[in-house]
Amino acid sequence: MLVKLQDLYFKPFISEEQIQDAVQQMVDAVANDLKDEMPIFVGILNGSFMFVSDFVKKYPHPCEVTFIKLASYEGVKSTEDIQRLIGLTQDLTDRTVVVLEDIIDSGNTLEEVHRIFKNENVKQLIIATLFYKPEAYKKDFKLHYVGLEIPNKFIVGYGLDYNGLGRDLPAVYQLKTTQHMINIVLFGPPGAGKGTQANFLKDKYDLVHISTGDVFRYNIKNETALGTLAKSYMDKGELVPDKVTIDMLKAEVEKNADAKGFIFDGFPRTNAQAKALDTLMNSKDSQINAMVALEVDDEVLVERLLERGKTSGRSDDADENIIRNRIKEYYDKTAILKDYYSAQDKYFGVDGVGSIEAITERLSAVLDKL
Ligand code: AMP
Repeated sequence: MLVKLQDLYFKPFISEEQIQDAVQQMVDAVANDLKDEMPIFVGILNGSFMFVSDFVKKYPHPCEVTFIKLASYEGVKSTEDIQRLIGLTQDLTDRTVVVLEDIIDSGNTLEEVHRIFKNENVKQLIIATLFYKPEAYKKDFKLHYVGLEIPNKFIVGYGLDYNGLGRDLPAVYQLKTTQHMINIVLFGPPGAGKGTQANFLKDKYDLVHISTGDVFRYNIKNETALGTLAKSYMDKGELVPDKVTIDMLKAEVEKNADAKGFIFDGFPRTNAQAKALDTLMNSKDSQINAMVALEVDDEVLVERLLERGKTSGRSDDADENIIRNRIKEYYDKTAILKDYYSAQDKYFGVDGVGSIEAITERLSAVLDKL
């Protein structure tokens, strides 16, 4: 799940479990090396509060804990300017000091830490950091214990913040640099008004509308191989096979690499298609945000489609039996998708009977909340 902090999105990066494992390993190593000492652990605030807390809880021997407060981050870039806000308050002469840092990137904070301890006559100064960004590190102070090496990406959570936010998260998240998309699946039986509504919504929210039915019809009109294949199924009101439909859908999405999001209309229609869509969105660092379903009574649908058939030129709209078969096919095969998205709390049913404007309003109310 993505986390939004002010204007930025962050994606899961290091799980709670991975963090706790890394902390435990550091504790084991430090405890083993310092078992004959009474170390004093010094946390660097604010970022290290969670790490220090978990570390000392796991630490198996008596120890002391204190904090100093420095500030080095402003926004997402490490600044050169480190401020000492709360310094040391106790005598550290001849003590073994273990500095517990949440993260070391440029090493500027660490330089300040060394400056602080230079005149304290400590027995030894040991540096232990939970996270370490080797690509960003510009100093040569020794790092005695490192929990996890990470790439040079901005992270939040587990004490680390973005503009003060995100410190409370028990796991670590990474800044998501690709554009944030809103993707919705517009759902509903044939004749529910998906196409009409999609046209309004795509303009209003600047989204790309992909109707698999329209793409198939375009291919039929242009007599492509895909069109010929699809026609044999469409003429009977049956679904085009998953493999064909999924490949086509992927190609349509790839054509719109800069999209701010998609309205999928007529897709997915099967569980396999829904899973393929999740995988596809995942590969774009994104997800389906909602399935918005237009709910309309069967008899109203048949009436609307027969009416549309008089002018649309769609052969599958002309015959009541084919229409009823498409509606049946929809409920037989596709209503399971309601369960698929409901299980993820992403299903939103919208009353699809009323004026076009009224229905657009109802749909917008859902989209505005995403
Ligand atoms: P539609 O315009 O959405 O009502 O689709 C018309 C016809 O195109 C359907 O009856 C199917 O034969 C075919 N079709 C459209 N989308 C899909 C899909 N996602 N999976 C399989 N067949 C589809």
